[in-house]
Amino acid sequence: MSINTRRAVFLDLNGTLVMPVKVNSLSEFRLIPGVDKAVAKLINAGFLCTVVTVQSRIAKGLFSESEFRTWFQDFFSCLKLNLKGPYICPHRFSEPCECKKPNSMLYDQAARDLSIDLRRSYVVGDSASDVKAAKNIGGLGCFVKTGWGKKKSELEAARLYADFIGNSLGEVADWILSTDGPKP
Ligand SMILES: [Zn+2]
Repeated sequence: MSINTRRAVFLDLNGTLVMPVKVNSLSEFRLIPGVDKAVAKLINAGFLCTVVTVQSRIAKGLFSESEFRTWFQDFFSCLKLNLKGPYICPHRFSEPCECKKPNSMLYDQAARDLSIDLRRSYVVGDSASDVKAAKNIGGLGCFVKTGWGKKKSELEAARLYADFIGNSLGEVADWILSTDGPKP
């Protein structure tokens, strides 16, 4: 069967799962408290938790894409979290590209790789581009007020697209689990 049936929660990385939002070295990343429990809840409920991230530090030469992938595997396998991906836009924020959020390219790629039904999935992040991406793939968008999400301007921009706004990833996970998800 080629029909995509699995549901995903697409998670942003910087500011959503880890802090700080800007690092010069991968060793600076720290898990945001409570994020591991929230992700485990979603995985246990049957969602594919899939990371989609913009890592402009790769374009700037601070670390390579393969160094980033190695860090990602080590960091999350230590936490015993089976996160899918990461799907990475390695370009600068100022550089126009097809893969950068809110474009759907990386989500489409994940959908093909993992048999995900995008219209029954969620996008979660701390920036307006995350919740905009949710609209572009036909799913639901959740904004979390961590990382960039603490900025009033980001929140105001996200309000136009967000289906839910939470103070923490835990609140977002509870909301997702309390809904039936996007309608087919
Ligand atoms: Zn890109």
